[in-house]
Amino acid sequence: MTRLARGQSPHALFITCSDSRVIPSLITGARPGELFELRTAGNAVPRYHVEREPSGEAATLEYAVSVLQVPDIVVCGHSHCGAVGARVRGEDLSAVPAVAGWLGSQLPDDLSELGEDGSGAAVAAAVQRHVQEQLERLRGYPCVAQRLETGQLRLHGWFYAVDTGLVLAHQPSVDAFLPL
Ligand SMILES: [Zn+2]
Repeated sequence: MTRLARGQSPHALFITCSDSRVIPSLITGARPGELFELRTAGNAVPRYHVEREPSGEAATLEYAVSVLQVPDIVVCGHSHCGAVGARVRGEDLSAVPAVAGWLGSQLPDDLSELGEDGSGAAVAAAVQRHVQEQLERLRGYPCVAQRLETGQLRLHGWFYAVDTGLVLAHQPSVDAFLPL
């Protein structure tokens, strides 16, 4: 462990939900120093906006990409996600205004089109689409766009099933989430 005191050179930035059932090191087998993490409710990354107040999400992303120069970014959504599920089912969040504000501004309204029945499959479909939307948002950050252009960075969309431990990865060639 003393090696860790000299600094960090993580293999990836892992962006996932704050959900306690999602444990990045368990999913990936990563050891200390190998994963830089950004966790938010519903694994949402705010859109890049040059005039916006600095956010913790933007700072974490910029540090990982520009300073630590991670070669990979994984956005990992998960099954049974309460944040995405709340949007899919159109739940009343008036008792939790900060949650309502965050999800309302970060998760698209049309997620509910995917799952009016609010079933697990509907939430999974919404989570997977949401993951792809986050990859698009990442591309809007100048630091990400620059390193993508030079081939120094790769983006990955994952879906983790909390009930089976199965990990699916988005395959752009077939536009589908398939087992990793
Ligand atoms: Zn979640």
